[in-house]
Amino acid sequence: MTDDAAERQMQFLFTLRSRGVTDQRTLEAMERIDRGDFVRGGLFEDRAYDDVPLTISCGQTISQPTVVGIMTQALNVQPRDKVLEIGTGSGYQAAILSLLARRVYTIDRYRRLVAQAREIFDRLGLTNITAIAGDGSFGLSDQAPFDRIIVTAAAEDPPGPLLAQLRIGGIMVLPVGQSDTVQRLIRVTRLERGYDYDELCPVRFVPLIEGMGKE
Ligand code: SAH
Repeated sequence: MTDDAAERQMQFLFTLRSRGVTDQRTLEAMERIDRGDFVRGGLFEDRAYDDVPLTISCGQTISQPTVVGIMTQALNVQPRDKVLEIGTGSGYQAAILSLLARRVYTIDRYRRLVAQAREIFDRLGLTNITAIAGDGSFGLSDQAPFDRIIVTAAAEDPPGPLLAQLRIGGIMVLPVGQSDTVQRLIRVTRLERGYDYDELCPVRFVPLIEGMGKE
């Protein structure tokens, strides 16, 4: 690593810590996965290490690093876990989760984003991620139940099929609320009977949209 890269890396981790990402395993995973790999060739490549969301292909966004960190630590992934992500986007969040989990399934409604993310996963040797083009609002019933589910697009309420595909004791983290206003990040824990909900922080995500994207 060059001095510049090391300095940038230190600053990146310092910002995450100072904004509430304190879980050691999350920080280590975010240290190992280079956000630059997921915005390469795009318009905002030079802003890869800034704590802001950036536009990627298909009019979508790669989330702000702090939000990725907060969601990852709230998910509390364990090494044997099977994780489902709705909203592959650039693949950055899935890559981080793949270092913490046994297996990650990630779904996006844009085939093009899925194809691009797969290429990056292959290049980085992240072999425990399966990226699928599809409408994630229905989850992935043939692989259910999941230990953890993360949704990186906002719905008004937690989608029923995703609640149903969560294992008892499992955790789901997702933004809820209308797409053009501030949404709330919530954590849902599945109990023996019913679900427990807690609210984490305000966030802003692109909307969860039903059906496949055009590209
Ligand atoms: N996690 C991503 C950021 C996601 S942006 C990252 O790390 O870069 C939100 C993504 O959700 C977009 O790519 C959008 O296409 C996708 N999305 C929206 N509605 C969806 C749906 N119903 N099923 C699957 N993906 C969806």
